[in-house]
Amino acid sequence: AAKAAGRGRVECFTSELGTSQRRRMTLERELREALARNELVVHYQPQVDLQTWTIRSAEALVRWNHPTLGSVSPGEFIPVAEDTGLINNIGAWVLAKACSDAKHVLPGLRIAVNASAAQVQRAAFVNELRSILSRYQLSPEWLEVEITESLLMEDVNSAVENLHAIKELGVRIALDDFGTGYSSLAYLRRFPFDKLKIDRAFIRELMTTSDARAIVRTILQLAGVLGMDTVAEGVEEPAQLDVLAHVGCHAIQGFLVARPMPAEELADLCRRWESLPRPESAGNLPES
Ligand code: C2E
Ligand code: MG
Ligand code: MG
Ligand code: MG
Repeated sequence: AAKAAGRGRVECFTSELGTSQRRRMTLERELREALARNELVVHYQPQVDLQTWTIRSAEALVRWNHPTLGSVSPGEFIPVAEDTGLINNIGAWVLAKACSDAKHVLPGLRIAVNASAAQVQRAAFVNELRSILSRYQLSPEWLEVEITESLLMEDVNSAVENLHAIKELGVRIALDDFGTGYSSLAYLRRFPFDKLKIDRAFIRELMTTSDARAIVRTILQLAGVLGMDTVAEGVEEPAQLDVLAHVGCHAIQGFLVARPMPAEELADLCRRWESLPRPESAGNLPES
C-alpha cells in the first residue's frame, strides 16, 4: 500500500510538472514561428504630462495573437523569449515597428520601447539601434529605451557602457518599474537615466497606505536631485492623479487615461485630445 501511495505521489508530481512544461514547450515552439507568421503586434499606451495635460510620449507594448492559443500576454512569453534567445529577434522587430510608427503614424510623440537585459548587454545593440534609426530616418530624440533595474544587476559593467553609448546616440533611457529592485543612490548615478517610472505597486496603494505616498514623494525628490523626469505607472483612478499632480510627478500612464491601443487609434486620440475634458488637478503647480 505504501508503495502504491508513493507511486501515486510521484505520478501526481510529474503530471503537474508536465502541464507547465508542456505549455512552456508549446510557447517556445510557437514563438519561433510567431514573427514569420505575423502574429506579433505592437500597441501603444500614452503618457500624459501633468503640467500641460498633453500627450508627449507613448510606450510600445508587444502583443501576441496566436490562432489557437489566443492572446498570450508579454508577461508570459517575454520570459520564454529571454530564455531561448528569441528576445533578440523579437526585440529588433518591436524596435523597427516602433520606429516606423513613430515616423509615419505618431509623429511628434516620443516612443518608449522596452528592452530586456539580454538585449542591452550585447555590444551589438547600440549598432542595431543606430541602423534602425537610420533605416526609418527617425531622429533619435523620438526614441526612448525602457530598462528594468533588477535585470541590469546581472552584468553592471557592460550595461553601464552600453547605456552610455545609447545615450550618446541621442536616444533617451528610462528606468522601468522603479522601486521594486535594488537601486541605491550610487547605482542610479552610474546609469544615465533620463526618466524614472514609478512602479504600479506604489500607485496602487497610494490612497490606502501612507507609506506608499511617502515613498512616491521620496522617489520624486530623488529624481529631482538627479535631474530625471518621472512617470507614474498604472494610474487607474482620478484620486491617484490628484495626489500625483499635487506632489509634482511629471507624467502619468495608466488605464485612467487609456489602455494600450493600435498606433492608428492613438493617433486618432491625439487628434481629439484637445476637445476632451481635462481633470481639474492637472496643470496646477504643486504647493512645493
Ligand atoms: P511594463 O513595461 O512595466 O509595462 C506596463 C504594463 O502595465 C503593461 O502590461 C500595461 O498594459 C500595464 N498597464 C498599464 N497601465 C495599467 C493600469 O492602469 N493598470 C494595470 N493593472 N496595468 C496597466 P503588458 O502590456 O501586459 O506588459 C507586461 C510587461 O511585459 C511589460 O511591463 C514589459 O516588462 C514586458 N514587455 C512588453 N512589451 C515588451 C517588449 O516589446 N519587449 C520586452 N523586452 N518586454 C516587453
Ligand atoms: Mg515598460
Ligand atoms: Mg513598468
Ligand atoms: Mg514590468
